[in-house]
Amino acid sequence: MIGLLLSSKINDIAPSGTLQMLDNAKRLEREGFEVTHLEVGDPDLKTPEEIINVAIEAMRQGFTHYTSSRGIYELREAIVEKKGGNLKSFLDPNKHVIVTPGAKFALFAALSAVINPGDKVLILTPSWVSYKAMIIANFGVPYEFDIDNHSFDDLEEFVKKIKPRAIIFNSPNNPTGRILTYQEINRLVDMALTEDIFLISDEIYDGIVFSDNFVSLSSFKDAFDYSVIINGFSKTYAMTGWRIGYAISNEEIINAMVKVQQYTSTCPVSFVQKAAAFALSDKRVGQKVEKMRLLYKERRDIFVKLLKEVPHIDFKFPEGTFYIFPNISYFINDDSNFALRFLKTKHVCVTPGNIFGTGGRGHIRFSLTVNKEKLVDSFNKFLQFIMEDI
Ligand code: PLP
Repeated sequence: MIGLLLSSKINDIAPSGTLQMLDNAKRLEREGFEVTHLEVGDPDLKTPEEIINVAIEAMRQGFTHYTSSRGIYELREAIVEKKGGNLKSFLDPNKHVIVTPGAKFALFAALSAVINPGDKVLILTPSWVSYKAMIIANFGVPYEFDIDNHSFDDLEEFVKKIKPRAIIFNSPNNPTGRILTYQEINRLVDMALTEDIFLISDEIYDGIVFSDNFVSLSSFKDAFDYSVIINGFSKTYAMTGWRIGYAISNEEIINAMVKVQQYTSTCPVSFVQKAAAFALSDKRVGQKVEKMRLLYKERRDIFVKLLKEVPHIDFKFPEGTFYIFPNISYFINDDSNFALRFLKTKHVCVTPGNIFGTGGRGHIRFSLTVNKEKLVDSFNKFLQFIMEDI
């Protein structure tokens, strides 16, 4: 009954598809079972100690108050320096950068900044679950286009037909690990320039890349008026709980995002910003991050090798991230149902593919965020389960 009184936009947002999995996993854990969590998008590795020390020292020094709603200058400057790409020569830390509590808030603020009620926003799928909900929360209308099963010619035709206000894409991609090539991003840039479309590029996994073909939207100077580049520290630096992210964009969009931040969170946590500025520029941190990347790569290689031996399972070779997204539709009818039964029977929690939008059905997302032994053990349980099930 009370639902009738709630905001209709909130009623339109589906509850998180992972909650049911988590509730069930927690119930099993309460009953004393050990559950292996391969569903979380959270590194199992520790935030480098050097970063923690900087945050503690900043707190001790009294850096515990509000900061500018754009974030501290020192961090904005480091972001331009390290992440400015081809835009660096003209990026101004005072105009073109905002620091936010997580990349998630940067995305939300970007959508608030660019869309009007009823505007269509196109999500390239399979994709992270939050984009759709954020579009609805900002009174936009989400559209999806499955780029794994269609060409960019098809995409261009679709874009011309629906005329979206913005396109959101994520490379390296959660859940597939796919990296969009230079040519593919260039096609998106062409569409943006000819059809007046904002490009929102979520690059949060740009530090977990295993091939040399990653390209940031910051490589495309001509697209700057239409670009919003989203990034953060959660994944690369194993800092999910610190809540720190940022966006690089043109002055108008950043000013609009600053307004959103001013009247909501005010600013990200002050001492976390100090630690983030340090993380971007410290050599030892850089070395630790590289070790983490190599560890994810090793896990990817182990899992890929195991998966390749199973007939009738297709998957994209992950070029980045710590996810792998096999299509197991040969063995199952319903991925949500499969994930629940797999959890209940083998005590391994994975994410059903359908929640990642069109192109996700029939898939399972594994997060490679456990040690090698657990990873191999979980794979063996998975194999046993699909074979028993067939
Ligand atoms: N973008 C993608 C694609 C993600 O997978 C996630 C987290 O899972 C985020 C953004 C959120 O990042 P943050 O922790 O910085 O808010």
